[in-house]
Amino acid sequence: MADLLQDLSAVQRDAASATEGPVMVLAGAGSGKTRVITYRIANLIGNQGVPAGNILALTFTNKAAGEMRHRVDQLLGPGSSGGLWIGTFHSVFARLLREYIDRLGYSRSFSIFDSDDSKSLIRQCMAELNISQDSVPVNTVQGIISKAKNSFILPADFHRNAADYNQQKASQIYELYARKLKENNALDFDDLLIKPLELFGNHPEVLEELQELFRYILIDEYQDTNRAQYLVTKMLASRHRNIFVVGDDAQSIYSWRGADISNILNFQDDYEDARTFKLVENYRSTGTILQAANSVISRNQRQIKKELVAKGATGEPLTLIEAFNERQEAEKVGDWIRKLSLEKQLDFRSFAIFYRTNAQSRVLEDTMRQHRLPYKIFGSVSFYKRKEIKDAVAYLRFVQNDRDSESLLRIINFPPRKIGDVSIGKLRDFARERGISLYEAIRCAPQGGYQQRLVNALSSFSSVIESLREIAETGTVYEVLNSLFVQTGLLSLLQAENTPESMARHDNLQELLSMARDFSDHNPDAGMLGDFLENIALASDYDETQESDNFVSLMTVHASKGLEFPVVFITGLEERLFPLNCYEPEQMEEERRLFYVAVTRAREKIFLSWAQSRYLYGQPQHCLRSKFINEIDGDIVHTESGRVHGGGAGAAVSVRRTEPVRHSGGGAPPVREKEGMRKGTRVHHAVFGPGTVLELQGRGTQQKAKILFRGSGEKTLMVQYANLKVL
Ligand code: ATP
Ligand code: MG
Repeated sequence: MADLLQDLSAVQRDAASATEGPVMVLAGAGSGKTRVITYRIANLIGNQGVPAGNILALTFTNKAAGEMRHRVDQLLGPGSSGGLWIGTFHSVFARLLREYIDRLGYSRSFSIFDSDDSKSLIRQCMAELNISQDSVPVNTVQGIISKAKNSFILPADFHRNAADYNQQKASQIYELYARKLKENNALDFDDLLIKPLELFGNHPEVLEELQELFRYILIDEYQDTNRAQYLVTKMLASRHRNIFVVGDDAQSIYSWRGADISNILNFQDDYEDARTFKLVENYRSTGTILQAANSVISRNQRQIKKELVAKGATGEPLTLIEAFNERQEAEKVGDWIRKLSLEKQLDFRSFAIFYRTNAQSRVLEDTMRQHRLPYKIFGSVSFYKRKEIKDAVAYLRFVQNDRDSESLLRIINFPPRKIGDVSIGKLRDFARERGISLYEAIRCAPQGGYQQRLVNALSSFSSVIESLREIAETGTVYEVLNSLFVQTGLLSLLQAENTPESMARHDNLQELLSMARDFSDHNPDAGMLGDFLENIALASDYDETQESDNFVSLMTVHASKGLEFPVVFITGLEERLFPLNCYEPEQMEEERRLFYVAVTRAREKIFLSWAQSRYLYGQPQHCLRSKFINEIDGDIVHTESGRVHGGGAGAAVSVRRTEPVRHSGGGAPPVREKEGMRKGTRVHHAVFGPGTVLELQGRGTQQKAKILFRGSGEKTLMVQYANLKVL
């Protein structure tokens, strides 16, 4: 077993075998921090005979935990990792609490409330306290409570220090919410971190038992731990003091969720005898990729300067993809993946596509489907499965077909109209007795003898539906959706909540609006709601049919932490998107760290892409290229055709194309040349897929093409808007 550590460098080996006492590894991306944790576990079990059950390893994702376990088994033989305490903070502490929570007056069969469960409980508390959701949105309350919990502030302390109106209200709700959770014998996600602290405080014997059990504690991604996580691990480690943490301050990207970078920076103060190891060799990326990463991160003021040198070859330059709009961007990404997978025989799993915000996944997903490229979304559900999208689509489906009672039930209380299950039950009975549809029963509500409040709620609902239906008769899909948002105030409600979660939902709905706008622009005939919905239905279906494990990975940059891929596409590199709107210098530095994380995921090749125009808020917006592109040394960034791109360090943001984006006809993407398109030409349309031109009419901006699409039949499209690709 002595050569167990032979796959490590000398300094990695030292870090892996310095098993006693507090140890920290503060080192850059790809330097082997996670690998050292894995080998250290193997070393403890294999060389030092430590029972696996005495080791606690905390990882950032469950996937990482699974991989570590697998690797330990590979190194030591099958089953060796059995008994190891390994997982995320949440999963490990849930397991611990099952063991001991009866001492806090809960039963061991406690439920874990996810974010939705906890929100509905908060709503219930607000109703009981007579606090209207108009004065404080439920998501805001949830955010405040969660932050308090993560900072280990109990309801009573919170109450004493509540500063403004929202906080005072939230403190009342927090108190009741905590009580109700207990009545339900339930813990929310934050409790999984907080309850252990309460347990240790009130029951020192439990703490002692666990301190004895966890002789060795190892923590990955320590820069992103929050206060509660910090405290709980510090308490657990205080007896044996064998605590091993690894991290990289340059990759701290969760401060908005309460992560506290000082946890890693103060490690040495917490443990004066701590030993630190620096890993300076990067085993993951080519020299060029590292040069790019270093040139970017060096611009941050707040950072510990770290050396990072490539072990591998210089490698290829980065390739800059410039596109007219986000669809062309996605298509170019798809084309490159196809090309490289064929030319270089790369599996699809070699590729990852990153984006800054979840909503951006929609266009990328659509393009992957059209190119028949298998893909998988990580860290969130695919666009069409997101709740808010399903809700909005249910409106459209119902406008199209008022007998779709499943959609009706989805939307009748979305946004909330206080139409309860009992009322819906009554309406159903009414419909059944008279042999009419549920919707007809709703429209007849004034004659149904219901309470006035319910009648009002129902008629305001049906008037929304009726007006949408009217618009759908002559208007475009975009107009229908836009009117839905205006009438229900959905977007402003989400905006008012102003939490990261509500803003993500807001952006997703905006993205749906952009999609509808795009669709309506390309299909000028009114009454296309059916086609639009069919398109969405097929898209959702495609998600179900992908089974192979050889797929392109799509994820936000946040979700990519700790991972690596041979080829990485970083998309949407535009000012105000990546970096996202930044108002404070600290925010800009966090955006830059996020970009650093993205760049350092790549092993061999990076593509940077941006679009000159992007639909945002249902309108095409003129975009400026991200400053991050210019922060990379210019000579290592090439154009798609292989020329040195130039620009380079310190250069002012230069948009090479000076002409404005043409927003003709209500904001269509710029005209694309369609030279050589004639009868019989095979083309590709982003929505309808492949087709053949049957006929061309008119010229210039007025030119129309009649096309027979393989899947969708015959369509007449304005060439200017259709963004057709000649095959
Ligand atoms: P991040 O900061 O991104 O989480 P990290 O420091 O955790 O990165 P690892 O993921 O552990 O880095 O390692 C990066 C890559 O380099 C992995 O593929 C790993 O297997 C490889 N690697 C690390 N050290 C060595 C080594 N001594 N020999 C060969 N490969 C190595
Ligand atoms: Mg790592």
